[in-house]
Amino acid sequence: MSHLLHRSVNGAYPVAVGGKGVMLFDAEGKSYIDASGGAAVSCLGHGHPDIVAAMHAQIDKLAYAHTSFFTSEPAEELAEHLIARAPKGLSTVFICSSGSEAIEACLKLARHYFIEKGESRRTNFISRRQSYHGITVGALSVGGRMKDRAPFKEMLLTGHHIAPCYAYRDQRTDETPEQYGLRVADELEAKILELGADTVAAFVAETVVGATLGAATPAPGYFKRIREICDRHGVLLILDEVMCGMGRTGTLHACEQEGIAPDLMAIAKGLGAGYAPIGAMLVAGKIVAAIRQGSGAFPHSQTYNGHPLACATALAVQKVIERDDLLANVRLQGAHLERRLKERFGNHHHVGDVRGRGHFWGIELVADRASKTPFEASLKLNARIKQAAMARGLMVYPMGGTADGVSGDHVLLAPPFIADAAVMDTIVERLGEAVDAAIADAL
Ligand code: PMP
Repeated sequence: MSHLLHRSVNGAYPVAVGGKGVMLFDAEGKSYIDASGGAAVSCLGHGHPDIVAAMHAQIDKLAYAHTSFFTSEPAEELAEHLIARAPKGLSTVFICSSGSEAIEACLKLARHYFIEKGESRRTNFISRRQSYHGITVGALSVGGRMKDRAPFKEMLLTGHHIAPCYAYRDQRTDETPEQYGLRVADELEAKILELGADTVAAFVAETVVGATLGAATPAPGYFKRIREICDRHGVLLILDEVMCGMGRTGTLHACEQEGIAPDLMAIAKGLGAGYAPIGAMLVAGKIVAAIRQGSGAFPHSQTYNGHPLACATALAVQKVIERDDLLANVRLQGAHLERRLKERFGNHHHVGDVRGRGHFWGIELVADRASKTPFEASLKLNARIKQAAMARGLMVYPMGGTADGVSGDHVLLAPPFIADAAVMDTIVERLGEAVDAAIADAL
């Protein structure tokens, strides 16, 4: 019996013992294609020799130095690297150890900024229903997946939610994608006015929605309108690119494809590619300037901020992605994956939607295509698909429908950026078999 507190306390998990490229191996000798990069993390695949070498080199020099005494070369270099490639206006980086921590930092810095500016009435945060921003209490408070929030609701901060941008289910037949995008974006303005513009600190959203909606891309013009609304009311825009950022959608930042820049941005997973636990918050120059003119400090630090080994690892990951032009591969092989998925699932009786960008794709499963009726949650189709895929040597990231919304089960794919066409073909073949087997088993 394991003494580890696993996600499922009674669950039995295979023991992962090794990895090479796109493959993971368990203790029984079984191999799996890591088609989800864990949870969209392992963008360079496993056992990359250049990353392993960079980690060895750094650990030989210095593993740790506390940020209240020192800065470090890897942390400074990583910050410089990130800012040189950051969306317009972002000037400064805060380095932590996870996506949840990056979101917490964004929320607290947004609040701190308004205190520095003398706008201390701005305490409200607005986010979207059916969203996930992390598991710590602050991040969970802005999250909009009610089943995650329910057990802890008394502990959470008040969160205000508007509709997600989720065209498959919410776009009306009499609307163009652009009209739909503007309609849902305008919900933000209505919510700001309802709460009182001078009470709202920030709006938080994932640029391309990962875990909760399975790679749901924003409608054209949606984020441009969101940016305008935030600017009009002095509200900060926080983009959560923990999952969709750092190259996952084919550009370094997903927001580049929307033509906007946030005031605060959270990144994590692909930043360290799973070789080290690391996350970061990117901060707009105007926020840093307000602190400089005000108290001079952001009272928020943790023991492992700017961890030298984690930073050296992330820097090596980012340099390899650039050196090997892997985002070009993401765009090329992403288009191939899209074609294959649409061939396999485009006319599938139980697949309502195939959506995504780059190496970030989702399929949404439905009991009935015409009415878009989801499968009964009690069938636990997502768990069955996961199991059927693992049995076929494939790791995918299936999620159940959200109890508070209308979305059904979906499967998220986030293959490593190094995946070639043959890997994509095998992923789709095995996924097709797993989906069919799981549905046959459930019905
Ligand atoms: N935001 C998003 C969009 C995520 O997908 C996740 C993790 N799935 C988080 C935040 C939280 O990141 P972490 O699990 O590293 O705390």
